[in-house]
Amino acid sequence: MKKLPYYFRKASVALLVMASLTAFGQKKANVTILATGGTIAGAAASGTQAGYTSGQVTIDAMVNAVPDITKLANIKGEQISNVGSQDMSFEIMLKLAKRINELTKGDVDGIVITHGTDTMEETAYFLNLVCKTDKPVVLVGSMRPSTAVSADGPLNLYNAVAVAADPNAAKRGVLLVMNDWVHSAQSLTKISTTAVQTFMSPINGLIGISNYGVNEFYRYPYNKFGNGSEFKVDNVTALPRVDIIYADVDMPADLIEASVAKGAKGIVIAGVGNGNMPKAALDACAKVAKQGIPVVRSSRVVTGNVGRNVEVNDDQLGLIASYDHNPQKSRILLSVALLTTKSPDALQKIFYSY
Ligand code: ASP
Repeated sequence: MKKLPYYFRKASVALLVMASLTAFGQKKANVTILATGGTIAGAAASGTQAGYTSGQVTIDAMVNAVPDITKLANIKGEQISNVGSQDMSFEIMLKLAKRINELTKGDVDGIVITHGTDTMEETAYFLNLVCKTDKPVVLVGSMRPSTAVSADGPLNLYNAVAVAADPNAAKRGVLLVMNDWVHSAQSLTKISTTAVQTFMSPINGLIGISNYGVNEFYRYPYNKFGNGSEFKVDNVTALPRVDIIYADVDMPADLIEASVAKGAKGIVIAGVGNGNMPKAALDACAKVAKQGIPVVRSSRVVTGNVGRNVEVNDDQLGLIASYDHNPQKSRILLSVALLTTKSPDALQKIFYSY
C-alpha cells in the first residue's frame, strides 16, 4: 500500500471511539475536523502577551485540549493547511470545499473547520455557495491563542462539534460557532479586532446558540445555499480576479481602470453609505461596466442593504447592487458567479438570491 505523506500521517487524529453513545444515550455522530490554522491554533511565549503566531498547533493538540469532545461525537481530524487566515487563499478554499464534498457523501455526519477569524466570513460564505450537502458544516476559531489566559478556543471547539453532531443543525447552510453564538455564513461579519464576541449577524440575526454543547436553533437562512445553489467547483482550479476598491472622500477614480488594466474581471466598490461614491468614480465604474467588466456597488458601512437605483441609476449605468452582501462577501459571490455569467442582469438576480 502506498504510504501517506508525512503531512497527513502527522495530522490524522488518533482518537478511537471511547463509547458509541453520547451522555444522553444517543448514537454518537461521526464528526471530521478539518484544520486550517488561525489563532485557535496559535501560540505565544506567555499567557498574557498580545503578540503570537497563528497556525502553530496541530489538530491533534487542539482536540486533546478538549477531552470531553469525544463524548459528543466520534472525532477524526485532517490538517488541510496551517496558516493565519490572512494567508487563506482560493487554492486552500477550493481544496477545503472539494474535501467537504467528498467526506459528506460518506458516513460523516458533520464537519468542523478550524480557521482564523480574519477571513472566516469569506471562507464560510464561499463554502455556503459550493458545498453540496445538507449535513452541518461548522466553522470555528478563537480570538485568543491556545496559550492565552482564558483562551476561548477549547469551548468554541466543543460547541462547534456539538453543533456539527446535531441533526437539528442540518439544512441550515454553513454555520459559524463562536462565543456561544451560531451564525449563518450568509449573515455574519467580523466587527472587532480583539473582542471575543467579534462575530455579529447584523442584518438577519442569529441562527441559534450553543451553550456548553446544548444547542437551540431559531431560524433557517432564507437565501440559496448548498444543494439549492447552482454553483459547483468540482472541476474548478482557480477563480477569476475580482478587486475591492474602497470609496472615500475624493477617492482617486483611476484605481478602477487601473484594476481592470491589471486583469480584474470584476470590481466591487466598498461604497460610502448606500453604495455611493464620488461622481468621477461612478463615471469610471460605468465605463468599465460598458466594457463588460461587472461592477458591484457594496458598502463600507457594517450593516444595512445596498439597494438598486436609490441614489445611483444602476439601470442606466449597468451596475449591480450588492443587496445584503458586504464588500468581502460580494467579492466571493462575484468571483464564483463569474464562472457562469458576466451578464449584469443575471448577476443582479444572483445577488438578490444568495
Ligand atoms: N490573524 C488571525 C487569523 O485570522 C486572527 C484570528 O484567528 O483570530 O488567522
